[in-house]
Amino acid sequence: MEELLERLLEECRPAAKEGRVADYIPELAKGDPKALGLYIIGSEGKRSWAGDCRQTFTIQSIVKPILLLQALLDNGVEFVMRRVGVEATGKPFDAINSGDQSLDSGNINPMVNMGAIVMCSLIHGRSYDERFQRLLGLTRRLAGDQEIDVDEAVYRSEKSHGSKNRALAYLLKSHGLLDDDVEEVLDCYFRACSIQVDCRALAHIGAVLSNRGRLPVSNERIFPGAMSRYVNAILMTCGMYDGSGEFALRVGVPAKSGVGGGIMAVVPTRMGIGIFGPALDRKGNSVAGIKLLERLSGELHLSIF
Ligand code: GLU
Repeated sequence: MEELLERLLEECRPAAKEGRVADYIPELAKGDPKALGLYIIGSEGKRSWAGDCRQTFTIQSIVKPILLLQALLDNGVEFVMRRVGVEATGKPFDAINSGDQSLDSGNINPMVNMGAIVMCSLIHGRSYDERFQRLLGLTRRLAGDQEIDVDEAVYRSEKSHGSKNRALAYLLKSHGLLDDDVEEVLDCYFRACSIQVDCRALAHIGAVLSNRGRLPVSNERIFPGAMSRYVNAILMTCGMYDGSGEFALRVGVPAKSGVGGGIMAVVPTRMGIGIFGPALDRKGNSVAGIKLLERLSGELHLSIF
């Protein structure tokens, strides 16, 4: 397996040249575009890796499925579905998803920013700090790493360059879709995006989602199996932003990307995969990362279709 991963990684590394590191905030623009790493955790706990898999980066949008899980655990499926829809937007992550007239809960999706901002407000807690700490706690359990924490420099950069997210949050508020104070909700969202991870952590999160809510090896249950079906289905249709359709054809497994260069992929019942490759395509997905997943999917017959 290691040999295969090394070979695929070297084959896909040059593809990074076709992408660019995210530069919407100064702190992310410092990423090394040539980095590429991969980590796999199988359902029985077997681990394999290659390349720059211990390099750390911020989770960014890959926190969205964790936000969704926390919201589901705190409120149940029916309540969450009434507040945040499940239909793919086919639009970029920070897009205003619908015309002003049709902005309602059915038109916001948990895998793009508007839906994720609403989900921060659904997490239970007496303060936003407490809500964030609960989300961080869940992230640590899913990632199998109690040391995971916020990258403070990225957090400050997100917070001071967050005009578009502020616009989205105020629009939600003006339509009665967000009850709480915009700055408090956004502070939770910015901190959530700035959680620092590596490929191993993403593979572990993917492994729990592939294992219907149970940790690999110990089999300890973190969330009900029905919730993994809910999250994986949404990852399949919207996890790769407006590139989800093409990704379904090329790779064929539920996955979530983030503008930090990470991809977390879930191969139901088989494995979780964590990828890092910060050079992104125009849709915000890791170019070399997708290529690597495509090659891996072909070699190991991972597509669920
Ligand atoms: N922090 C980013 C934002 O909200 C996350 C976007 C992403 O990874 O797609 O703009």
